[in-house]
Amino acid sequence: MNLADKISDPIFKKVAEIAQSEQVETFVIGGFVRDLLLDRIHKKDIDFVVLGDGIAFAKTVADKLNKKKYLSVFKNFGTAMIRLNDQDLELEFVGARKESYRRDSRKPIVENGSLQDDQNRRDFTINAMSISLNSTNYGELIDPFNGLDDLENKVIRTPLEPDQTYSDDPLRMMRAIRFATQLNFKISQESFEAISRNKDRIRIISAERITAELNQIMKCPKPSIGFDLLYRSGLLEIILPEIHALQGVEEVDGQTHKDNFYHTIEVVDNISRTTDNLWSRWAALLHDIGKPKSKRFDKNSGWTFHGHEFLGSKMIPRIFKRLKLPMNDKMRYVQKLVKLSSRPAGLAKENVTDSAVRRLVHDAGNDIEELMLLVEADITSKNKKLVKKYLNNFKLVREKLIEIEEKDQVRNFQPPVSGIEIIEAFDLKPCKEIGIIKHAIKEAILEGTIPNEREAAQQFMIEKGKELGLTYRSK
Ligand code: ATP
Ligand code: MG
Repeated sequence: MNLADKISDPIFKKVAEIAQSEQVETFVIGGFVRDLLLDRIHKKDIDFVVLGDGIAFAKTVADKLNKKKYLSVFKNFGTAMIRLNDQDLELEFVGARKESYRRDSRKPIVENGSLQDDQNRRDFTINAMSISLNSTNYGELIDPFNGLDDLENKVIRTPLEPDQTYSDDPLRMMRAIRFATQLNFKISQESFEAISRNKDRIRIISAERITAELNQIMKCPKPSIGFDLLYRSGLLEIILPEIHALQGVEEVDGQTHKDNFYHTIEVVDNISRTTDNLWSRWAALLHDIGKPKSKRFDKNSGWTFHGHEFLGSKMIPRIFKRLKLPMNDKMRYVQKLVKLSSRPAGLAKENVTDSAVRRLVHDAGNDIEELMLLVEADITSKNKKLVKKYLNNFKLVREKLIEIEEKDQVRNFQPPVSGIEIIEAFDLKPCKEIGIIKHAIKEAILEGTIPNEREAAQQFMIEKGKELGLTYRSK
């Protein structure tokens, strides 16, 4: 197959010219070729493999393109990259190589090799295809493992023996599952069995790399594909035991509860249809992790998971730390969503009080919209009628939220009376009464005892101070 007219970007002709004058055989390889054949948009990074010194060739290309400033050399990896900012393009160069591995590291021992050697070291047949940029067969597809058929059949398969491939570099297990999720491909049975057998090798991979793959799975339209594969291969139990622990159904006295693992990944899919926010998707994945520890059975009430949201939110910092996810406002956002994840359901009743709605708006603040998306995603019943009913209930909650917001403006609550004003009003030195009064004012507003207004709050402050035995000094 010749793809000359498919690689129309002028950069290919340029690189080919330089390759010819330098007499270095050069090929395009990897993700760019795969996505070209899939008619899929490829992030703008193009990998080139050359028979010879990859870094030296990259230097020549950078020189001839007048882009020396934009050349980065990674000597340890034997690669070099030219960034073409104007085209938002990254050209990666590597010399064809042969790799062999030691058991304790995913860093290979590298020696120079042929194109075939280089294709052998690639992770999947669909990622091992290359296109020649050489004058004798410009545009020719070189596909020694029949990656084209695997693209056609939507299969992920390793070029060489899968046990060896995954054991050599166990990150490939995560990559297989990530590509299966991104491309909606199947992992070949042989390959999947090898992943299951080699799952423990994942322990030699750094948390950062595992997490990078997890985040890519999370950003897919249907992340459940990946989480199901992680679960069935046994990888999930190693990298996210808290999610693995959600699996299973227990039965007592003929009463069962749902399988919270399959429920959870359905919730992640659901929320992925309504938001691209990665952290909302993480909140969906983690929203039920407090359930295994809070599970109880009681003859009268059946299965309950009291307080699981609170317990779950408390588990999150450890998980974020272990996975090297950011321990900042992103984590606090996930914690907040998990902690509040059952609150709106409590409001989905006929006779809900204004104060309950006000408190939710106050606690969720600007994240109220994403919280509503989470609780709506959390509805996973097979019963269509029931789903409709619950969604309708949440519609009513949304209406109440808007109504209360317009009336009371408690979303980003600012106390109408400041601490300084309290100090001056009662001529106080720093003392606990200040905090008590402040808190009482906030409670009174949220409860609806007084409106969220300055005058009412001042009056309330005076009364509260008197109650505490303080003397008000009017101005
Ligand atoms: P994308 O960039 O869309 O994630 P890609 O296939 O381009 O997909 P990269 O991580 O950019 O993936 O890697 C480029 C190429 O390098 C791959 O197509 C594959 O041929 C090879 N490769 C990357 N990582 C590995 C690995 N761990 N083992 C073997 N080959 C790999
Ligand atoms: Mg790439």
